[in-house]
Amino acid sequence: MRLAIVFFFLIVPFIGNTQTLIILGTLQDGGSPHMGCEKECCANPQENDFVASLGIMDDSGPILIDATLDFVAQTNFLKEITKSGELKIFLTHAHMGHYAGLLHLGREAANAKQIPVYAMPKMSEFLSQNGPWNQLLELENISLKNLQNNHPINFSSGLSLTPIQVPHRDEYSETVGYLIQGKNKKAIYIPDIDKWSKWEIDIRELVRDVDYAFLDGTFFADGEVPRPMEEVPHPFITESATLFESLPREERGKIIFIHLNHSNPVRKEEFAGRKLLEQQGFRFAKFGEKFSLD
Ligand SMILES: [Zn+2]
Ligand SMILES: [Zn+2]
Ligand SMILES: [Zn+2]
Repeated sequence: MRLAIVFFFLIVPFIGNTQTLIILGTLQDGGSPHMGCEKECCANPQENDFVASLGIMDDSGPILIDATLDFVAQTNFLKEITKSGELKIFLTHAHMGHYAGLLHLGREAANAKQIPVYAMPKMSEFLSQNGPWNQLLELENISLKNLQNNHPINFSSGLSLTPIQVPHRDEYSETVGYLIQGKNKKAIYIPDIDKWSKWEIDIRELVRDVDYAFLDGTFFADGEVPRPMEEVPHPFITESATLFESLPREERGKIIFIHLNHSNPVRKEEFAGRKLLEQQGFRFAKFGEKFSLD
């Protein structure tokens, strides 16, 4: 009898919990310690403090959104928790924190075999036309799968991912976020966007439509870094909080800020500004945190 109870508690949590999102990193592209930063924010490196990436645990095999410079640790972690050596990668755009990790799949490193990499047309062209990325294709370390804006990629497990184009500094590629549709729940992942007001989609409508919204929280407020911040536009968390003020608390509770710059004070749990936002319902991504899609 006792054995049966133990069996129940060990096994039951895994039954019917086959689609899960997992936070594999929370930081902006440059990570922390950040090149050149001598401030307190980068003085004490934290364990598993990786660049923003979302993992999906699914019957169709593990999926990674974005290949960051912490790609090795992140894929190792995903492999360990999914007990699967498979991998599919969906890319958002050609900024260093979102695709540069692909290099670990090349001949000098893993020498991988045809890892599916899903990318938008300009992103695919960029990878195909430029070294060192085109060598990954020539050696068939990766195989490119073409995405189109607003067209879902459906997996037999019932999972689908739909790229949604967003306004961002598109030097080499377009930029997308992903709508992730699970068996029962939906999520949106938008690590980078210039400003909500530049988008034809009303983010508040989108938040209403999903269960989880992982949104660009790069900077807390204007003046945070000593450079003209209009060069690197993002919705400040303070701006987003004002925009989402009109939503009921329950809706605000779906919002999880991610892609935090090294300088962002919300990285500290005890920061008063963060506590205030948490009282209003907002959340902040944490490495290893899971969100069920069942
Ligand atoms: Zn980024
Ligand atoms: Zn720093
Ligand atoms: Zn970017």
